[in-house]
Amino acid sequence: MMQDNLFLKIIERKIPARIIHEDEKCLAFHDVNPQAPVHVLIIPRKVIATHADIGAEDAELLGHLHIVAARLAKQLGLDQGYRLVLNCREQAGQTVPQLHLHLLGGRPMHWPPG
Ligand code: AMP
Repeated sequence: MMQDNLFLKIIERKIPARIIHEDEKCLAFHDVNPQAPVHVLIIPRKVIATHADIGAEDAELLGHLHIVAARLAKQLGLDQGYRLVLNCREQAGQTVPQLHLHLLGGRPMHWPPG
């Protein structure tokens, strides 16, 4: 089940988060329930409910999220590798209706994912 857009509340500083990056287009913060030693969420400021809602006008923004992810991975010492996950809609496990990239690292990752 999708919850409210609680990430919007983090953007608006209505609920706290351990924010590690912020710029005019996006925010990154530590996941409250980490699935790896490093688990950071990268979200756009623009409200985009799911990956299925992106359009051509979002190309630059999506590229920016990836550049921030790569920069954070470096800053957080993920030299051995990392995984980016983007869950789209309920069947994929999306629970918050605001597009977000999971940056996971600090342990070996397995394939296929669950
Ligand atoms: P997803 O299941 O892909 O929608 O990912 C949502 C993620 O948000 C989960 O990994 C949750 O642990 C995380 N999360 C939920 N609430 C918070 C919060 N208040 N602060 C940080 N992360 C959160």
